[in-house]
Amino acid sequence: MNILAEDDYYDLLGVEKSATQDEIKKAYRTLAKKYHPDRNPDEAAGEKLKDINAAYDVIGDPEKRASYDRYGTADAQGIDMNGFGDLFSSFFGGGRGFGGFGRRGGRGRAGPPPGQTLRLSIHLTFEEAFFGTEKDIAFNRKIHCEECKGSGAAAGSSPVTCPTCRGQGQVARSMGFLSVAQTCPTCRGTGERIDTPCKSCKGSGLQNERSEIPIPIPAGVEDGQGIRIQRGGNAGPRRGPHGDLIVMFAVEPHDTFIRRGLHIYLEQEIPFPLAVTGGETEVPTMHGSSKMKVSKGTTGGTLFRMKGKGVHTSDGRKGDQLVRVQIQIPKKLTKAQKEYLRKYSDIFT
Ligand SMILES: [Zn+2]
Ligand SMILES: [Zn+2]
Repeated sequence: MNILAEDDYYDLLGVEKSATQDEIKKAYRTLAKKYHPDRNPDEAAGEKLKDINAAYDVIGDPEKRASYDRYGTADAQGIDMNGFGDLFSSFFGGGRGFGGFGRRGGRGRAGPPPGQTLRLSIHLTFEEAFFGTEKDIAFNRKIHCEECKGSGAAAGSSPVTCPTCRGQGQVARSMGFLSVAQTCPTCRGTGERIDTPCKSCKGSGLQNERSEIPIPIPAGVEDGQGIRIQRGGNAGPRRGPHGDLIVMFAVEPHDTFIRRGLHIYLEQEIPFPLAVTGGETEVPTMHGSSKMKVSKGTTGGTLFRMKGKGVHTSDGRKGDQLVRVQIQIPKKLTKAQKEYLRKYSDIFT
């Protein structure tokens, strides 16, 4: 399971987001040669090649690329959902780079069309998106009619081949001297005609269902990203396959932490003496409280970096926490504190 963020795939192939498919293909071929195990036997190259293949598999395919650009994830990143998963058999499974410009092809001409893709959005707390979780969502969708198993034909009868298109689902229409293929108006592309419709679904082959499925939320997802669950959407008419389900994430902000990409930003007050002398202080992070070094003579507004304390994504990327310090100026002082500050002031003047 993968969730993809930002422009990683474009970066991986070293192309612009606006690159043409040809440019992407060219960049891919060059890199794939460079990192091919025959030329480059070390393990890191093998890993790199896998990444390159994964990137090309998505942005090398215009349809997946569009989905990736839009949702930050692509069809290729099929998520196996018990029963829903039409798991994408990994292009880089063989590990040998070449041999596979082939991708999962478009749906064959034959067979009924797939159902609609459904789009849903779910709310996540900052923590849920940060650490990842699993959420059940309930939604309405079409499934194949139980009575007729999706055929649309009443029990004891079966659909007959559509006479208009002879089962092709398409008819040729001539426009001037051009001939254009068009969805068959009689069977609406299914290639079948039903003489005795199923009573339960009135011949549509579909029924409504309230579905509840678990949605895996990978760690590190961001507001506006989503995942595509293959075959999670509506069933197609006349036994057509299910369309996909796209689930978008709406992530709530946090009271204390602000997220920018993989980094977490925090405003933190530190006591005035610490700012002067330098030292260590405890600051909250999403991974628990942690010690941060403050350098001597720190002024308000200084930014400190806590390496690796930002977002940790499911695919192994790690961000930092950036802490902007403000100096605490005490408003109320005890007599003794006042006395000390007076002495301090005397020494420095
Ligand atoms: Zn037809
Ligand atoms: Zn039915």
